[in-house]
Amino acid sequence: MIVAERKPLEEITGFVAGAKKVLVVGCRGCVTVCNAGGTKEVEILASLLRLNSQREGNPMDVDEHTMERQCDPEFAEAFGEQLGRGHDVILSMACSIGPQFLSRRYPNERIFPALNTSFLGGALASGIWSEHCQACGNCVIHEFGGLCPISRCAKSLLNGPCGGSENGRCEVSEETECVWQLIVDKMESNGRLEELSDPRLGKDWRTSRDGGPRKIAREDLIK
Ligand code: SF4
Ligand code: SF4
Repeated sequence: MIVAERKPLEEITGFVAGAKKVLVVGCRGCVTVCNAGGTKEVEILASLLRLNSQREGNPMDVDEHTMERQCDPEFAEAFGEQLGRGHDVILSMACSIGPQFLSRRYPNERIFPALNTSFLGGALASGIWSEHCQACGNCVIHEFGGLCPISRCAKSLLNGPCGGSENGRCEVSEETECVWQLIVDKMESNGRLEELSDPRLGKDWRTSRDGGPRKIAREDLIK
């Protein structure tokens, strides 16, 4: 999923400075799963903004709404029903795709992101998420025991380990597992260690982000 976290409140209050009426919009997709921008987080941010504005002697009306998905034109279209009620600012609590979709669909609205989109990852435990993919567009984890050295090795080494790991931890940070240690262990337990002896000469990066924004067009789905 896309993992995100709320921007600092001071940054968000800067977005709504001087506003009389604000709409906070959540998303039931990834940001609900990672507890950053679902209905509960919309309620919390809206309450904080109300309290903050009251404390500053400039009470602000804050409405709340949660969309099914902000990254889908179907739901962005339906979101129009929420507009026209005098909101000075709309705060999107989706990943950064949501405010972009809404900004494009509703060019006259002032739409600000309330979250920082962090990475593609998963939950390791309650309250802990970690990056597992950089969306290179040409997945090769089958060559590494199902583990991704591009996103999880600090140097994105396709031939590792680098020699700096200690006790299974990355030389860049003791808090980070050396994914190459994990890869070696996994390949060994799968009886595939030999496969790592042949150096990888490279990878096809044409599907990666370096060529500019990417697009997928599925002929079978285009109407
Ligand atoms: S190889 Fe590419 S697509 Fe596969 S997990 Fe790593 S970054 Fe993501
Ligand atoms: S210690 Fe491991 S994870 Fe860290 S840079 Fe070296 S190979 Fe990559």
